[in-house]
Amino acid sequence: MLTIDGLKKALRNAQSEIEAHKDTLTDLDRAIGDGDHGINMSRGFDAVSAILDDDYESLGALSKKVGMTLMAKVGGAAGPLYGSAFVKAATAFGDATEADFPLVKQALEEGAASIKARGKSEVGQKTMVDVWEPFLKGLSDSDDYAEKLDRLVHDTEDMKATKGRASYFGENSRGTVDPGAMSSAIILKAIMKEVG
Ligand SMILES: [Mg+2]
Repeated sequence: MLTIDGLKKALRNAQSEIEAHKDTLTDLDRAIGDGDHGINMSRGFDAVSAILDDDYESLGALSKKVGMTLMAKVGGAAGPLYGSAFVKAATAFGDATEADFPLVKQALEEGAASIKARGKSEVGQKTMVDVWEPFLKGLSDSDDYAEKLDRLVHDTEDMKATKGRASYFGENSRGTVDPGAMSSAIILKAIMKEVG
């Protein structure tokens, strides 16, 4: 079960993991982008952690606030994508104060659909979609979430980017893990850990 406190804990863990990987995210984005992903995500999750001390009456209310905060603070291409994912997930959570595995999965699927629609991207383009969609596809509560997420992040290394700024690097985008895939895995790992 994912409770309101559980989601708060997940977001605090995500913040500390993003902080721990800030330089890596920056280096990856410097290789195939504009080098701001680590800084943007760190700023966004610092802002998220600041709203976690407030009281929320539902998972939907918390998720919506997180989404609005990420939209306002992350910037770059990732801000609107992550922001809209949490806002859309909020509609799935609704008034629930705790969510079982199927509801969490449904909320994340809403989030993934929003990322795809906003980013106009599909699987195989070396973006965060390459983590969100295959992770959720056929996901069961007996899966090793962390192992699956690590593998999906690793799989973006050999892909050629055909979407976003990284696509300007063409063949040279191969050999670098997608930074958005890595930050997505950090966030999803933190959430799934609290689902149990
Ligand atoms: Mg960037």
